[in-house]
Amino acid sequence: MSYGLTVTFHGAAQTVTGSLHVIEHAGRRIVLDCGLYQGARKEAFEINRNPAVDPATVDMIVLSHAHLDHSGNLPSFARRGFKGKVLATPATVDLAELILRDSASLQVRQVELVNRLRAEEHKNLFEPLYDEKDVDTLMRCFQAVPYGAQADLGGGLSLTFLDAGHILGSALSILEVGDGASRARLLYTGDLGRRDSVILRDPAPAGPVEFLIGESTYGDRLHPTVDETRADLQRIIETVTARKSRLIVPAFSVGRVQTLIYHLNQLHHEGRIGTIPIYVDSPLANKATEVFRNHQECYDTEANLFFTAGREPFSFSTLHTVETIADSKKLNTQKGPMIILASSGMCEGGRVLHHLVHGVEDPNNFILLTGYQAANTLGRKLGDGVSPVNILGRPYTVRAKVEKLESLSAHADAKEMVDYFRASAMHPQKAFLVHGEPPQSAALKQTLGQQLGWKDITIPAPGETFAL
Ligand SMILES: [Zn+2]
Repeated sequence: MSYGLTVTFHGAAQTVTGSLHVIEHAGRRIVLDCGLYQGARKEAFEINRNPAVDPATVDMIVLSHAHLDHSGNLPSFARRGFKGKVLATPATVDLAELILRDSASLQVRQVELVNRLRAEEHKNLFEPLYDEKDVDTLMRCFQAVPYGAQADLGGGLSLTFLDAGHILGSALSILEVGDGASRARLLYTGDLGRRDSVILRDPAPAGPVEFLIGESTYGDRLHPTVDETRADLQRIIETVTARKSRLIVPAFSVGRVQTLIYHLNQLHHEGRIGTIPIYVDSPLANKATEVFRNHQECYDTEANLFFTAGREPFSFSTLHTVETIADSKKLNTQKGPMIILASSGMCEGGRVLHHLVHGVEDPNNFILLTGYQAANTLGRKLGDGVSPVNILGRPYTVRAKVEKLESLSAHADAKEMVDYFRASAMHPQKAFLVHGEPPQSAALKQTLGQQLGWKDITIPAPGETFAL
């Protein structure tokens, strides 16, 4: 049976960035996510600047969550003629504004650097992909849709968001078309979170669907359980306290820092880490924490218990925020023990680099990697035990102990995905796997076929279109 839907995969097809999927029905063009493509600089520059779909022809964009690989090209669409609505949960609207303003200032700074060189060589100058004004234009397009509410997309399509449990505000998108015997549901997972992760509710079962567009980032992997996080943190912090040294934690400003604060708060409350001072040295992270504070509607039962107990999930007596560069530098001369959370998570920039310069050669210190470390990043080199490493143009011998906390992943692993689909009694006529490198997507395809008996699973190539 045909439902008159077509779906085209323009981004995050056989890769993990630049999410962009186009659904067409009855003359309406709906885009699912509008992410920044992140790869080799020149290729990324071209792909982000020349979207595969003309922004002026798009009626609506459904945004699953605020991460840059899902939201980061939205201002570029606003700059290039998009006049429709962007639907997202209230928390995603707030986080996206923060992330996109930060991204806009980065885009402007990067192009200024490139243009300085090009001007010397008398070459034509580039424009930034987008700037702050484009974010202003975009923000006027947002329409907040709470979890569970049904929104009309036009053309006989409707949308419902459910908890995805991935980051604050993250949503599973259910698109519905037709009624009675000709009714069909399509689930777009965006990024699927994990059961029992802190702060957020678990991913909500979506029920049976006819069609699925599912992520496959960790389609070949099993994560350590969430329970191991606090024991690992406690063990490292005990050593740091005894040695009066430093624990440097490179962490993504939005999501990862707040998760760490939450765990540290619980450990502090239970008297398991004493009074060691904890510094969050990232203005973006501190703003993101404010957004987390403002969106209690996203919290799970445990996070809500803080309030009944008269506590707050993201504030406690030994936690301090650092705003100015001067205060950040003061930490370098301050005596330990201390914990410093700073971005970026892969040590590719940001204030964490200065803390590494001052801390990496001391064998008493610890560096704790808390997220995915892409190939060729400083974070990956530290994780792989490379020494010396180059930081801000100088070589440093790595004497600090480097540890990894892999239990904090915000993506479901292969088993968790199978469990989720099973709990939803999902048996789609057709499933598409996106947002994964080819080996991960292929592994998940095999697992879903074997364990759930799914017959029609496609790993679409970029630009491929399907009629449903
Ligand atoms: Zn994400």
